[in-house]
Amino acid sequence: MSSQESLAAVEQAMTPHEPGPAAEQAWPGAEALSPNGDFLRQAERDSGVGIGACYGCKKCSNGCPLTFAMDLHPFQVVRLAQLGQVERLSRCRTIWVCSSCQTCLTRCPNQVDLPRFMDWLKERVAKGGGSVEQARTLLFHRLFLDEVKARGRVFEGSLMTRYLLKTGGAFGPEAMANARLGLAMFKRGRLKLLPAGIKQRRWLKDLFKA
Ligand code: SF4
Ligand code: SF4
Repeated sequence: MSSQESLAAVEQAMTPHEPGPAAEQAWPGAEALSPNGDFLRQAERDSGVGIGACYGCKKCSNGCPLTFAMDLHPFQVVRLAQLGQVERLSRCRTIWVCSSCQTCLTRCPNQVDLPRFMDWLKERVAKGGGSVEQARTLLFHRLFLDEVKARGRVFEGSLMTRYLLKTGGAFGPEAMANARLGLAMFKRGRLKLLPAGIKQRRWLKDLFKA
C-alpha cells in the first residue's frame, strides 16, 4: 500500500459512519427537551456505568462498526440518557443492534462502558420498560440469555433452531437459505456440532440470581 493509499485508509477510518435511515426520527435535533436529572442518577447507580463523565467527543461513534444499522449513534444514546430522555431510549433500535464488541469502550477517554450501558437498557426494555421495533428482536434476546444461563456459552445450533422454529424460518424457502448459511458456517468452523459449557456452574447460577 502506498503512503497516499495509507493516508486515504486512515482518513476513511476517521470519518464518522452515517447513522441508519431512521436517525432523523430518533434524534430530537433542534426540538426542545425537558431534561430530567433523576434518570441520570438512577441509570448510573443501577447500571454501574458513569455516563455523566461523557463529554461528547464522539470517539465511540466514530469507531463503532454498526452505526449504519443504528437509529442513534452510541454517543447520542449517552447524551439522551444524561438528559433523562427515557422514552426515546426505551424505543431506540441502537441498543439492540449493538453487538458488545467493546470498540467504543477501548476508544473512550473517560472509560464510559457503553456496551454495559446498552445491556442495561436492553434489560430494562425486556422487563417491560419500553418497546422494540420487532417482536423477534426481544425473542432473540431472551433465547440468547437462555443459552448463556444454561451453559455459560451460546450454542449457535440450539439458539438458531429454537429461534427459527418460533419465527417460521425453519420452514419453506427461508429454511433452505438458512440451511445453506448453516452449512457454510460449519465448513468455515464457525458452527460447532456439540455444545460446550463452562465448568463454574455454581458461579453462573449465582450470577443470574444476582
Ligand atoms: S468516547 Fe466516551 S466521552 Fe467520548 S462521546 Fe463516547 S462515551 Fe462520551
Ligand atoms: S459495543 Fe456496541 S456501541 Fe460499542 S462499538 Fe461495539 S457495536 Fe458499537
